[in-house]
Amino acid sequence: MQVRVRFAPSPTGKLHIGGLRVAIFNWLFARHFQGSFLLRIEDTDLERSKQEHTDSILKTFKWIDMNPDESVVIQSSRIEEHKQLIDKLLQQDKVYKCFCAIKREDLDSENYSKYNRKCRDKVFEQDDLNKSFVIRFKLPDNINEVSFDDLIHGKITFNLDQLDDFIIARSDGAPMYNFVVVADDAYMKISHVIRGEDHISNTPKQILLYKALDYNLPKFAHVPLILDPMGGKLSKRNSASSVEECIKMGYLPDALFNYLVRLGWSHGDQEIFTRDELIKYFSLDHVGKSGAAFDIEKMQWVNNQYISKKTAIDLLRLIQEDVEPDFLKQFSSFNYDQIIELIDVYKERAVTLQFICQSLKTLDQIPKSYSEQAIMEWIKPGTLDYLKNLINELELVQDWTENNISDIFKQFCKKNSIKISDLAQPVRLALIGETSGIGVFKLLFIFSKEESMKRLYKFLEFLNNKV
Ligand code: GLU
Repeated sequence: MQVRVRFAPSPTGKLHIGGLRVAIFNWLFARHFQGSFLLRIEDTDLERSKQEHTDSILKTFKWIDMNPDESVVIQSSRIEEHKQLIDKLLQQDKVYKCFCAIKREDLDSENYSKYNRKCRDKVFEQDDLNKSFVIRFKLPDNINEVSFDDLIHGKITFNLDQLDDFIIARSDGAPMYNFVVVADDAYMKISHVIRGEDHISNTPKQILLYKALDYNLPKFAHVPLILDPMGGKLSKRNSASSVEECIKMGYLPDALFNYLVRLGWSHGDQEIFTRDELIKYFSLDHVGKSGAAFDIEKMQWVNNQYISKKTAIDLLRLIQEDVEPDFLKQFSSFNYDQIIELIDVYKERAVTLQFICQSLKTLDQIPKSYSEQAIMEWIKPGTLDYLKNLINELELVQDWTENNISDIFKQFCKKNSIKISDLAQPVRLALIGETSGIGVFKLLFIFSKEESMKRLYKFLEFLNNKV
């Protein structure tokens, strides 16, 4: 069988990472079976659908390099075909016009949410025809249940008692979701419908419509939802829940891809996969049946794995594309080469690109204050003099290399019988205002002699005033 799958987002809001994960599962499934991955924009809810959301969805698919294999189907452009199909079903007596403006008495007296079928076999009077109507599906009387073999959950059975003659077109003529999804999946020759678990309850209605339309049934797989760490549904308020936000925070496409696949799918204990490995290993059999909990720390860890393997030049390009287009314009202490060197050092500890941006922008500023606690810990009687003498020796360095700086520093400490950290921490404090961070020799080197000296003298001044 030719595998054809689709992702069918409604452009009524920002793409949620749960949606992107479903799209990724579809894409991997298609690639694994050398099939086709298609995209359909379900914009029939014209009031809530917005072009900006469609644009953002298409941009996200480019960003994550998961382009559809055929042109994108815009559902609203197929409305005439949908209406023709409904006419055909009307002629075949498989659906009917319902003129009841649903009132309480038209609902089943046993079950108030079900329609009582009043119009189902009614012969219409002239009068009725002026009223507006909806189109209802005639639930078959000759079967009791509908079941399907879900590729993730196994056999799922619905008793027909749970359904009523559901509406397939509204009174304004607009066909409803369950109908158009079937019409379009058949039109697009979809072999496997892989979608969120929230659509399980729609599936029996859709199966009945497939049968009424004499279409072959696709296979169904319902992917468990992403849960928040407390076990509830991942809220839209969680800022990492929107893909657009994740991009802005500086998650790399491959990292987000990797994290979202692993969320609810596993292949042994492996955490980091190339895309080719994922294509090779991916199977719906290893998608868990229950929801997977979103874990921001894990997502950051995965992102760090990807960030630390990129070159600084690539990271800078990604920062400018996704996080801060004006990033380079914001520096006054560092030039381009220094920024590249700093990115190279900071990428090792960066959990997002935004982390790199913020760290570098902080470094760019001469410290306005120095950590009180670090001053108490590291500035002892004598530190000021040692610092002055060290600065004098550093002033003599002609060739400002990391090696030369480290040699001077080490010799100085040895000569004065002090520990390297006793001076390294005050120097770090002078350069960046705090004592944690990257190696001090590297810092001095990248900062350049001029910038380092400027900050060291400023720190001396601060200490002098303090005493
Ligand atoms: N448009 C539906 C949604 O965004 C998806 C329909 C489907 O996958 O069958 O939830």
